[in-house]
Amino acid sequence: MTFVIGAACVDVLDRACVEECPVDCIYTGDRMAYIHPTECVDCGACEPVCPVEAISLAEDVAAGQEGFVTANAAFFDVALPGRDTPLGSPGGAAVVGDLGVDTPFVAEYRK
Ligand code: SF4
Ligand code: SF4
Repeated sequence: MTFVIGAACVDVLDRACVEECPVDCIYTGDRMAYIHPTECVDCGACEPVCPVEAISLAEDVAAGQEGFVTANAAFFDVALPGRDTPLGSPGGAAVVGDLGVDTPFVAEYRK
């Protein structure tokens, strides 16, 4: 079980969830935020504060949004555009700041 951020966050990115996360495992890209799959402690604190209900358990994502489950993991496991290596597990979003870049899936996503 892990929490993920879905399509509703795209182009909203108001960071309300970032403020709420007790372990700072919500990282910000250009169009949306991403939950680190292994740094997340599954506390659920972020889910109710999202104004667009973008956060859910991975197994509860809406039909057709499965690509966002993959995107949340790929943001950390695959080198992002313009980078040579994956982010991996930085240990907190404050360490890396706003990344300003998305996975190709999210960059190309049409709402
Ligand atoms: S479930 Fe808890 S630990 Fe995981 S991203 Fe949300 S607030 Fe952070
Ligand atoms: S609170 Fe919701 S819309 Fe705002 S950054 Fe987090 S997931 Fe995106």
